[in-house]
Amino acid sequence: MNVNVSGTKAFYNSITGSSLCDCGYCRNYRLQIKSAVPNVAMYLDFWGIDIEKPLETSPLESDENGILEYCCCQYIVLGNCEPEYHHKIADIEFRVAKSYPSTGIEQEHFVLEFSPIKLKYIC
Ligand SMILES: [Zn+2]
Repeated sequence: MNVNVSGTKAFYNSITGSSLCDCGYCRNYRLQIKSAVPNVAMYLDFWGIDIEKPLETSPLESDENGILEYCCCQYIVLGNCEPEYHHKIADIEFRVAKSYPSTGIEQEHFVLEFSPIKLKYIC
C-alpha cells in the first residue's frame, strides 16, 4: 500500500459533517465505530483516514438482539495499492474495494474496505 498520508489527512479534514450520509445506518455507525473498534480506528488513522467519515457502509438486517452487521465499510485513500492487499485485525479483514460509489476525486486514489463490523442499532 502506497499511501499519500498527508493528502489523505487533508482530504478527510475537508469533509464537513453536512456532506456525510444522514441515513440512520450511517449515523449509527459514526456514533459508535471509534469506541467499538479502537484498534481499527488507530490503523486507519495511521494512513490519515478518519474512521468516522466512511465513503459507504453496507448494513445487513439487524438481528433479534438489535445487533446490526455492516458487511462492508469503505474509505477513500489517496495513493495506490496492490489489488491483493490484505490485512487483518482480530476477525476484521481489510482489502481493496472493487465496487463502490463514485468518489468524484481526480487524484490517484483507491477505496479500502473492511468487514465485518457489528454494532448495536441505537439510532
Ligand atoms: Zn447512509
